[in-house]
Amino acid sequence: MTLRIAIGGFMHESHSFAPRPTAWEDFLHPGGFPPFQRAATLLDTLRPTSVPAAGAIAVAEEAGVAIVPLTWCFANPAGPVQDAAFERIAASLIDALAQALEEGPLDGVYLDLHGAAVVDSFPDAEGELLRRVRAVIGDLPLTISLDPHCNLTAEMVARADVCVPFRTYPHVDMKAAGAQAMRLLFARIERGRPWARAHRTLPFWIPLGSQCTLMDPMQAVMTERAALAERMGAVELAFCFGFPYADFEGCAPALAAFADTPAQAEATADAFLAAVTARESEFVQDTLASAAAVAEAKRLAATRPGKPVVLADTQDNPGGGGHGDTTELLSELVRQGAKGALVCLINDAESAAACHAAGEGATVTLSLGGKSDGMPFPCTARVEKLTDGVFTLTGPMGAGNPGNLGPTALIDIDGVRVIVVTRKMQALDQAIIRHVGIEPSSCPILALKSSVHFRADFGPIAEQVIVAIAPGPVVADPAVLNFRHVRADIRRRPRAA
Ligand SMILES: [Zn+2]
Repeated sequence: MTLRIAIGGFMHESHSFAPRPTAWEDFLHPGGFPPFQRAATLLDTLRPTSVPAAGAIAVAEEAGVAIVPLTWCFANPAGPVQDAAFERIAASLIDALAQALEEGPLDGVYLDLHGAAVVDSFPDAEGELLRRVRAVIGDLPLTISLDPHCNLTAEMVARADVCVPFRTYPHVDMKAAGAQAMRLLFARIERGRPWARAHRTLPFWIPLGSQCTLMDPMQAVMTERAALAERMGAVELAFCFGFPYADFEGCAPALAAFADTPAQAEATADAFLAAVTARESEFVQDTLASAAAVAEAKRLAATRPGKPVVLADTQDNPGGGGHGDTTELLSELVRQGAKGALVCLINDAESAAACHAAGEGATVTLSLGGKSDGMPFPCTARVEKLTDGVFTLTGPMGAGNPGNLGPTALIDIDGVRVIVVTRKMQALDQAIIRHVGIEPSSCPILALKSSVHFRADFGPIAEQVIVAIAPGPVVADPAVLNFRHVRADIRRRPRAA
């Protein structure tokens, strides 16, 4: 008999201290991801992308199951999702699910969730969404994929039959996680009853920069995760690194083990918790202030030319809730005369419009960026190139995904070039730079608004990466933020040895 499976999704990473809240419109224009999808277009739109649901769809189609598309959406990380937006999204998903059940029995449900959404009235947004889904589907098999930046709560683990986070950061295996969540949905349907599960939180937060799985300690931790899951015979050992900018009780790195018996799940969870905790001091990270970072980048570019030195403007990462418009790193590059350096990007619709009004070749006077923190960079610039900001991503994380930054300008300020955009996006893909006519590998210095994701596409072309500390809400050390609701018994930074 052909299985009938429903597929939907809701993805948001909410930063409680970000300058802007997340509204319904943000789900309609996400830079670098498909916009809000209803049932009629969901499958065709998501199939060619790198989102987790695309992996789930591929496995379901390969197995010949009948797919019932629900709704799916993504908005770029920013402040908490407004109640009205969440209610609209949740209602669209729940209504589609209820309608699917009216039309005939479902065998299971797969949801593509981020896991770090905070809604004004529901700090554990995915927990609330899963509660509402369960109210409609009862105990039907339900599996979810997650972004490992999620704050995995006990509620989420209790409501979903299995949670499968990506294993990589940069996220180059989003589709693989969706595919595995779909395979486990089939396994859960065949098994006929839920797996036992155990949920644990780490005793310390992991700063974003130390969550990168291309380097130790995280690389070693993920190798241990896979080995342990196999040794213990766990169906899934989910490790979520946490998103330490969400001011609610569930903010923490967490893990969940799913297995045949409760004893197996508990033992797997305890063993992995001990393995990660033992490495606590290795998670302390290295950074440089803007001025020192630019000086070091200039020194490296002069002594080891040929490959770009990458400056990661981590604290204004648009993929972590930054607005992508702070200007300290740019102003340091100009002040220190870093000619040939490229800044990708400054999110400033007003300046982009001024450049488009002036035209290519014109000289413009701008109060560039700084709209989110009141610290713009006043400058005179030459408009080198204008584009509509539309391109297709090509890097390991997002190949095939649509990029749409709105009216975009490449400008030159005393030899430092800047890509000025109308809609923000994390600088994680070389296509952003190529679409304005520049080959990224030809730049001596690349200043990228990104924390870690840039490493997937820019790592291979970089001479060296320097993490620069400039203004922005995605603070390298979240412990400095004014949290009010997080647990007091979890350390906000890893303890040094
Ligand atoms: Zn993530």
